[in-house]
Amino acid sequence: MGDYDGRALINGERRQAQGEQVFDCKSPVDGRLLATVARCGQADVDAAVASARAAFEQRSWAGMAPAHRKRALIKFADQILSHADELALMETLDMGKPVKYARSVDVNSAANCIRWYGEATDKVYDEIAPTPSTALALIQREPVGVVAVIVPWNYPMIMAAWKIAPALAAGNSVVLKPSEKSPLTALRLAELALAAGIPAGVFNVVPGYGQEAGAALAMHMDVDCIAFTGSTRVGKQIHVMAGQSNLKRAWTELGGKSPNIVFADCPDLDKAVQAAVSGVFFNQGESCNAPSRLFVEASIRDDFMAKALALAPKYMPGDPLDKSTVMGAIVDQTQLNTVMAYIQAGQQQGAELVFGGQQARVESGGYYVQPTIFAGVTPEMTIAKEEIFGPVLSVLSFTDTADVVRQANNSVYGLQAAVWSRDVNKAIGVARALRAGTVHVNQYDEDDITVPFGGYKQSGVGRDKSLHAFDKYTEMKTTWIRIDSPV
Ligand code: NAD
Repeated sequence: MGDYDGRALINGERRQAQGEQVFDCKSPVDGRLLATVARCGQADVDAAVASARAAFEQRSWAGMAPAHRKRALIKFADQILSHADELALMETLDMGKPVKYARSVDVNSAANCIRWYGEATDKVYDEIAPTPSTALALIQREPVGVVAVIVPWNYPMIMAAWKIAPALAAGNSVVLKPSEKSPLTALRLAELALAAGIPAGVFNVVPGYGQEAGAALAMHMDVDCIAFTGSTRVGKQIHVMAGQSNLKRAWTELGGKSPNIVFADCPDLDKAVQAAVSGVFFNQGESCNAPSRLFVEASIRDDFMAKALALAPKYMPGDPLDKSTVMGAIVDQTQLNTVMAYIQAGQQQGAELVFGGQQARVESGGYYVQPTIFAGVTPEMTIAKEEIFGPVLSVLSFTDTADVVRQANNSVYGLQAAVWSRDVNKAIGVARALRAGTVHVNQYDEDDITVPFGGYKQSGVGRDKSLHAFDKYTEMKTTWIRIDSPV
């Protein structure tokens, strides 16, 4: 059975899937069984959507004064923090990241996100249009209704929080489907939301497989909006399913292959090396915005590589439950196979493997890969083009600014990018030319809930985070009032 409760949470109650269907949730840390999880299908999704719809129609949440919704969301954030150790351990066991980061990054960011949107609830105003004096035109945002949320396994709590927080703050009801590879914290979050006073039916969780519970949500005729984070391949299907069903609003945060351009005049080479290495090895490389295409100006390449090779051993994988570990386990055997196949492709296509490249900690029963660096990568190689979603850094070099910008933009993705230079004209000029949702200048990992997150091109449609996220979860209504004033 495992230690954790894997039942769905629908209409405020933990429930088995109809027909008692389950799947095993095993830990990538050591292969242990964590829970048997409800394998939700069409009937469970129907029940969750019906409960979300009923809650929305009853206005128990949507009709609450914004100041009261704010209070409940802030309590929800407090609940998360008061269960921080429990949630961090669960996240680590479920998807393999080091517990130190699950606690300091994942738990804190999820709580902060929910608190921030809670705080915003009674601070965002609507608009009055500049019409002639014979009219008063109100432009108001209303909740869209029932929001389906589908998230991946790399940052299960944070990815969920980025969507449920603005959706709930705007007054919607939510049905969340976590990844089948990491379903546990989502279920616990929904329990904590209930404990914080968010009414039953407002926040439901249906664990299950993508092609079953996920597709049932994307095709559902009574879901008003779907917010998806995951691969570009599935993201495209989400837009198709939205169009084939009820034209629900579809928002997608998808893959990336972010270019990181380091010029010879970068202000601090050590900092650039540290950011390049930690950016691609953090979270075992399972980050959509990992700076996985590194372009180093040829004149500093040897220096740069020497420093990177000195840092790489610090990222050797360790026991994720050990607080000193900085790189943990890959999420499962399938993802491990994918990463190893990319490493093999890099070698076969002539890239120079200068560090790592092997599986590690095999005796643990879990899935671990060494931090891996390829030098001499050229743009047509598979490892320079495709998202690996593992701890693999591809290093390319360049001599010409216009050419490196062209290469950086030569990707189906456009999630993030970085430029390192102390020449302000060059840094800003290159930042402007890069086709990406976020461009980092002379840093890579600084971030804040106040700025939007999302991509150009096939990195998706729409933005998470910041007040702009409200646009996804609200309809805009105009009320035009005729005024025949007697004065
Ligand atoms: P995935 O696309 O395989 O799965 C994502 C989610 O979609 C899971 O919950 C899965 O069950 C569900 N799903 C799968 N098939 C489905 C279907 N036919 N219908 C409906 N739902 C379906 O992605 P993954 O492997 O879980 O996550 C890795 C991907 O996520 C990477 O490409 C990464 O770049 C991307 N990602 C993007 C961001 C971002 O903000 N842009 C953030 C994190 C991860």
